[in-house]
Amino acid sequence: MFEKAKTLVPNGIFGPRNPMFLGNQSHPCFYQSGKGGRAIDVDGNEYIDYMCSFGANLLGYLHPKVEEAVNKQMQKGGLMTMPMDVWTELAEYLVEHTPLADWVIFAKNGSDVTTWCTNVARVHTKKKKILMAMGAYHGFHSWSVPTPTGVPDEHRAGIVTFTYNNIDSFNKAIEKHKDELAAVILTPIKHDIFQDLEMPVDGFYDAVRKACDDNNIVFIMDDIRCCYRLQFEGSHEYFNTKPDLVTIGKGMANGHPISVAYGSEKMKQAACQVYFSGTHFYSGAPMAAALAALEIIRTEGVIDKINHLGQMLKDGMLEQAQSHGVDVSWTGPLGIPFMRFPKGGPGASITFAGSATKRGVFIHPHHNWFVCAGHTEADIKQTLEVTDECFGIVKKQIG
Ligand code: PMP
Repeated sequence: MFEKAKTLVPNGIFGPRNPMFLGNQSHPCFYQSGKGGRAIDVDGNEYIDYMCSFGANLLGYLHPKVEEAVNKQMQKGGLMTMPMDVWTELAEYLVEHTPLADWVIFAKNGSDVTTWCTNVARVHTKKKKILMAMGAYHGFHSWSVPTPTGVPDEHRAGIVTFTYNNIDSFNKAIEKHKDELAAVILTPIKHDIFQDLEMPVDGFYDAVRKACDDNNIVFIMDDIRCCYRLQFEGSHEYFNTKPDLVTIGKGMANGHPISVAYGSEKMKQAACQVYFSGTHFYSGAPMAAALAALEIIRTEGVIDKINHLGQMLKDGMLEQAQSHGVDVSWTGPLGIPFMRFPKGGPGASITFAGSATKRGVFIHPHHNWFVCAGHTEADIKQTLEVTDECFGIVKKQIG
């Protein structure tokens, strides 16, 4: 089916889902269905899925309450000429339950809202440059796409980088560019592909907040990937910091397409001035999905469950790595883990992820994984049976 897709779609499948990036052809190219933490490919093979739609599946595929809310909304109308009542209902819900949010806007993708926030910051500060961490991903738009083929240099001329978690590097960038910087955009944790995930070091966010306050720079938190896996009120609350603008998406509607930017009152005037629209931004069904999913996350112990399952997975796999004598680096929060083989490099990761996937445990060799509340303890136990064998295979490969 992939060969056919290649004749119809450039590269067959885009981005990090492309078989080339996944490694050794062990991963399925197409799914046919999924439920909870499991997915079935087009050949009928079942996987315990640790990519969870790259994070969007937070409650488990086809969560009944979320799907019921979507179906109900669709009976009334999905996308209509004018926004439907769920527009205001969801805005009110988010503002009520998110301490930092005084207002919200809705879109479809993370890239829509990260880009919009940079422009709001430019209007607010009357400055142009954007400071971001080297290697961070904030979406596929020209200013931040990791491989800028086809992007004119001038689209990235105003982008300045520093090393995440390195306060010296951050302060140097601020010192050099402060008069031109409109915004600093950061992800709550460092989660670049191929690398260990990093939690923010002590004092990092204090340094960011202070530099922004002292120099009229807007602090944007790009919480698209982490949102609702660390803390319901926002990952910035988990790390005790206060950005000016925040972007969320992925897990907020359990896979239904919606993203959000929200901000503090002081950003509202600029927010009113920056044009924002997309035909599908107004669709009611994903808003109904978000309302249902958010209430489940808020009231049903979802983050605790994800952390519990993530802990089981981490403890089990680290014990296995040790008993096989395989050196691993395990990093990231419990619900957003990543494991690397410092001695074996990406080749060992490809072998491990490929072997696990062939045995029914879908993991990515180079991108962080996700645990969802649709996974069960039985899924984790079954996963560990598979990974035990896979550590043995990697041990043989790297010695
Ligand atoms: N920011 C971060 C931190 C992300 O992880 C992603 C998606 N992986 C994006 C922005 C872009 O989101 P989208 O793919 O929905 O455009």
